[in-house]
Amino acid sequence: MSDLKTKSCPRCQKKFECKPEYIKNCQCASIELKQHQYDYIFKQYDDCLCASCLEFLRAECEDNVLDMV
Ligand SMILES: [Zn+2]
Repeated sequence: MSDLKTKSCPRCQKKFECKPEYIKNCQCASIELKQHQYDYIFKQYDDCLCASCLEFLRAECEDNVLDMV
């Protein structure tokens, strides 16, 4: 049995594979997120996002953090 799940990114609707069983191979493992970046992203989305959206939101988070200072 395969646990490969194809999901749609809630942000861009792109299909991507989520591999919670093989987290090291999952595309989200290639995006390093700090705790506050996780919080920022998952406040808005309660599901996995594709790697490009994770990268985008990570950058957006950093911009917003600067604005708040
Ligand atoms: Zn996406």
